[in-house]
This record gives sequence, C-alpha cells and structure tokens, in this order.
Amino acid sequence: MRGWQRCLIVSSALFVGCGGAATPALQLVEDAAEAMGNLRAVSETTTLVNEGQGRTHRLGQNKSPRSDLPYYEIENYRMQIDFANERWRLRQDRTTTFLTGSPLYGVRQTYGLDGDVAYDEQGERNVRASERVAAERWAEMYHNPIGIVLLALDETSTVSNLREEEGQRVVDIAAANGTQFTLFVDGETGLPSKVMSSRYHPNLGDVAVETLFEDYAETGGLGGFQARLMLPRSYTTNLDRFQLSQFRVTANPDGQVDDLAAPADARSAGPTMDTASVEVEEIVDGVWYLNGQSHHSVLVEFDEYLALIEAPQSEARTLAVIARARELQPDKPLQYVVNTHHHYDHSAGIRAAVSEGLTVITHEVNRSFFEELVARQHSIVQDALARNPQPLTIETVNGNEPYELTDGSRTMQIYRIVADAHSDGILMAYLTRERILIEADAYSPTSREAPFAEVLLQNIEDRELRVNTILPLHGGVSEFEDLESAARTAQELAD
Ligand SMILES: [Zn+2]
Repeated sequence: MRGWQRCLIVSSALFVGCGGAATPALQLVEDAAEAMGNLRAVSETTTLVNEGQGRTHRLGQNKSPRSDLPYYEIENYRMQIDFANERWRLRQDRTTTFLTGSPLYGVRQTYGLDGDVAYDEQGERNVRASERVAAERWAEMYHNPIGIVLLALDETSTVSNLREEEGQRVVDIAAANGTQFTLFVDGETGLPSKVMSSRYHPNLGDVAVETLFEDYAETGGLGGFQARLMLPRSYTTNLDRFQLSQFRVTANPDGQVDDLAAPADARSAGPTMDTASVEVEEIVDGVWYLNGQSHHSVLVEFDEYLALIEAPQSEARTLAVIARARELQPDKPLQYVVNTHHHYDHSAGIRAAVSEGLTVITHEVNRSFFEELVARQHSIVQDALARNPQPLTIETVNGNEPYELTDGSRTMQIYRIVADAHSDGILMAYLTRERILIEADAYSPTSREAPFAEVLLQNIEDRELRVNTILPLHGGVSEFEDLESAARTAQELAD
C-alpha cells in the first residue's frame, strides 16, 4: 500500500501541501479523509483494530426464501487489519440463536487473510480456503473508511466517476487487481457512509455487498494525529436485500496487531478446490444412495425415467452426481430432481441440474425463489447454466397434498413435512413398496442433537407411512428405530 506516495506526487511538496488532488473524484476522497480528522493521519495509518460485539446472519438458511435470516450472537469480536501487508485476522465467539442440530455456545471462530492466502483455524490446524474466498476477504479489507481511503490514494488504483446518488457524493475506485468499489460520502458530514463492492456467490451469481458506516465518534489513542480521527462505531453489511452482519465496535487506528502472517500449514496447502467424490450404495434394486461427502442424493429408477432427490452442495457436486446417475442407468433419461428445501447447501446444484435439462420438483413456497435463481446473472463467474442457458421446468407440491411419481409398480410419494421448524416447505420422499424414507435435515444421524426428529416422526405417523429404512441426506443409512430413539432423546432434553 503506497497511499502517501500519490499525495507526494500530486503535491511534489511536503505532506502539508497534499491538497489539490489530481481529479475532482480523488478530491472527494481526500476531503473525506480530512473530515475523518486529517488526510495525512489517515494516509499514514497502517493498521486498524475494531473490537466489539454484534450478529452474523446465516445467508440462505432462513425458514422460507424471503423471511429474515437466522443469526449468531457475536461476543469478543476482534478484527485486526494490517493494510501495509494486506493481512487481517478475525476472532469472535458465536452463540446460536436458532434451532439446529449443532448449536454453539460461545464457540470461538478465527479466520483471516494474508495476501492471497485465506485460512480458517480449525482446532489445532488451519485450513486453506478457496481462491474465491481469498478474493472476497481481500475486498473485505476495504469495507471500512480507512481501508477505502488508503486504496483510493494508492497510485495503482483508479478513482473516477464523481456523481451524486441518494443525496450523497459517490466515486468508483478500481483496484489494480480489477476489483471495483464504490465509495459513498455523506453530503452533510463529508464522512464515508458506505462502501460497495461486487462479488460472485455460487448460488446467487453476481451480488452487491455493501457496508454502512454509522455513528462516527472520535477514537482514543496515544495522542498525535490518531487522537483526532473520527471512525464509525456501527458497521452493517448487506448482501443484496439480506443483512449479513451488524457490529458495534471500538476502533483503534494504528493499534498494535498480532503477527498476522498466514499459519504455515495453511500457506503450504494449496487453495481448496471445489471437488466432488461420489460414492454409490445400492439400497434395493433401482434405488441408489449417492454419498461420499457431506450432502447426499438418492437416485430412483422408474419404468421410463430416473428421478434424483437433491442437487446439493455445489455445482461440481451436482454435476458429478448427475454424471454418476446416468452411468448407473444409461438407458433411461434422468428426468426429475426433487429439491427438499431451498437452503443454499441443498439448492446449490439446482442451476446445474436445470442446465442438464432436469425438471425441478419442490414445494410451491419455493417457486419464485427458483424462478429468480435461474434468472440471475452469473457474469463474474460463468456457471454451467450461464454457459448453457435452459428454461426452468418446475412442478410443485402444493399445501400439504402429496405429489406422486409412479410407474404402476414403483411409487414415490413426496410430502411436505408439516410444522417443521427448520424450513417451511421442506419435503420428504417415501417409496411405498420398499418402505424407504428419504429426508434432509429433519433427522441427521450424525448431528449432535435432533430437534426436528419428533416432528418428522409425527408426520410419518399422520401420513400412516410404514417406514423401515431412512436414507438421510446427511449421515448414513438408518432404521426407523434410530429416528424413534433420537426423537425420545430430544424430548428428554426438552423436558
Ligand atoms: Zn436446511
């Protein structure tokens, strides 16, 4: 980061003469830095430490596609940024506020970035994240007033397109690596009010992420310029229409930071790639359990066609599952994909499935969600559907009425799991003759707790299903008795 150099070049004099920016767009940035206390002080800031508490929301895990996101309560939030070395590390303690099989109570989370190395601490070891995550985290470093000013002043950045929007003065900032930011400056205070940048989200495609800066206050510090800096105490980050996080912080510019170098084990590992490994278990003739990773699918053969239950996890996973399904029975078309619920980890492969010509069966509450999902723009990364556009063909399970696929000898009934607290329109599939139930998240034998098991059991009883075997889309093959015992344990826990 060489922010100050631009000032020297522009002024060809001492820092005092740094005013008189080359362009009106750059002038807006310099004025904003002055409003924060002093252009020189901001330019010479090398670190920022924000500490506080707040919430982080779980995108794509809401009860229905348009409802509010569930969230973790965050304590002991500590974000340390080293701008000069392009490093940061976040540490926070998360507590779950929603019903889940894996609740957290003040559980510490640590992750960070060192240049192009993004890493997540997992117990004793550190895991290298993907290149996409590293790019997101790099942009995140500039979603604060000091970072964005430093980036704008850097001689390798381009600052342009001064304009007015929403009563604010706005400029675009293009970083040397091509990442585009937009800085909003409040018309009255002259302080940075918002930074936006675009990123790629595997489910949503091109998305805008914005961070709002509010409640500016003078920061503490040891005196000198730092004592006079004005910085926000409130940060709110939104992705499209969803709030992702909100924090109340105490800011410490030029605060002491830890050694923020990437841990050696993360650095030496290559970036995580989105790979798929599909393993096949034939449960009965014509029913295959496609597992091998965290999210499974089930393939069911009918007389004239094949039906897949779930296109989960990622495009790579779903395309591998589809390829495997076609290998298992090459003589019949793979016609349907049943989506159990809209949660992003269970719908991540729907665009890929549509690109492969599959008809989506889901609950009616998800129809507009999937219509929008298929129509969204994926220009930052061209996914399978962007490369091979296909129309969405969708059939819906309506209300609590069952939906049926049958060829006369094999029948698969698809039911809504009524009153499930995890997801409104969540579906389960039941093979009547084989007495096999296929479900996601309502009962996962591998999760610590089973808060949704009782409701699933109730639904099975109410529908008078005679389930012997359960194929959970997380975990492994289970018996009906396993579900009964999980429901009993959950009830005892609740009492
Ligand atoms: Zn779910």
